[in-house]
Amino acid sequence: MPYQMGKRLSGERASKLGHLDVVNSELVNELIQKFEDQEPAKIESPANWEAIPDGEIPLRLIFAVDGSKQTIRSDFPPYKELSFIKTALLRLDQHAIEKLDPLAPHPMALRDIMSDSGMYHATVLPLKGVNIKGLSNYDAVRKIIFDSMQDRSLNAEPYKTLKWLAYEKWSGQSKSSPSFGCPHCEMEVCGLPFDQDEGACEHCGGHLYLTDMIGFHLEMSDDAAPDSVATAYMLIHETLLLFTGIRFFWEAEKYSVLGNALFIKDGPLFLKGQYSKLVIPLRNFFEFAKHKNIAVHVVGQEKTGAFFDHLEIIARNAPVNTFFAPSNEYIRKEIQHRPERSEPYGSRTNYGNKIFVKYDEYHHLVLSVPTGKYTDTHTSEVFISLSKILASLPPILSHRYECALVPIELANGVASLSSYPSAAILKVFAEI
Ligand SMILES: [Zn+2]
Repeated sequence: MPYQMGKRLSGERASKLGHLDVVNSELVNELIQKFEDQEPAKIESPANWEAIPDGEIPLRLIFAVDGSKQTIRSDFPPYKELSFIKTALLRLDQHAIEKLDPLAPHPMALRDIMSDSGMYHATVLPLKGVNIKGLSNYDAVRKIIFDSMQDRSLNAEPYKTLKWLAYEKWSGQSKSSPSFGCPHCEMEVCGLPFDQDEGACEHCGGHLYLTDMIGFHLEMSDDAAPDSVATAYMLIHETLLLFTGIRFFWEAEKYSVLGNALFIKDGPLFLKGQYSKLVIPLRNFFEFAKHKNIAVHVVGQEKTGAFFDHLEIIARNAPVNTFFAPSNEYIRKEIQHRPERSEPYGSRTNYGNKIFVKYDEYHHLVLSVPTGKYTDTHTSEVFISLSKILASLPPILSHRYECALVPIELANGVASLSSYPSAAILKVFAEI
């Protein structure tokens, strides 16, 4: 996802409400006046900012993932819909970034950095009206997801990572996959036996793929899949690409390389509702690594949403070089404004807890950092290698975009759909 333009750079804006001149109500006019004249909000935030510890040496090796997606619809019936998805993993070195001109990096220098350090995956999902080999749209999407994850151009590495996570292979035990809803009879399947790629439902005998465990079918109907399935595929694949790097070093027992690497995900460390099956294995992995004393540095950065908007406000009064880890209570009251309920924020869907960071007047970031098992304790010690991660970001802060990180900017370039043919050309293919 591209970075938004910084607020300080936007020019004058036309009145959004000018067309409401006809409204005569005094009350409405007062409201409109207040809306248009709004001063930057001065919120008394109970945020408890702490100084970023100094003295840490930044991690040298950086991996970043990003993805993009474009859905094409035919203009005439029978309506067809295809979604093109691309994800990319980029490997960078702090030395290489230091050599770039921070304000105007030369395109050739960027090309050199990216030429042998990026890998990407591209696929296409039929969302509506596309018949493949007599399969229903539902079964075609399930099969394509299973096949795409085993993308041969990547030597099926992201799929191997899916198996590594689903069967918690780091544990050395022969665990089954997490349980999941059968795509045929909707009964709960207790999980595929260790290391299986495919299987049969214990209730209806229907054919199962390991990728069904992720949950894409839960939001699909027989003849159509919503666009959100394509978004979910992109997010899951980004996660698998990122953890492919971690798995690679882990399995090769290159713990010192792993300990000097930072893995950055565009977006929060989060898998929503029906896609949250992998959250527990992910948490278990971080917990396992923590107990083994093996450093794994993962951070997510989100650039939109309620947390980002909240930080825009509270960062104004925050000192530079500080961070703040909001508690469950703070998130509920100050950000989500939701009533108290039993389930703590993110306990089922997040594999990292939120951290607000302000480096300087131009860069404040909403980060997620893993804690291992879920905790609603929000002191800095619960975050895995927090001080190391916070020390590694200043050298890679963007000078071109506010609140941006250079590796994500570059990964976005690799994952960008602009490197596909134009949308119009895609449409030609979609209509064949
Ligand atoms: Zn079944």
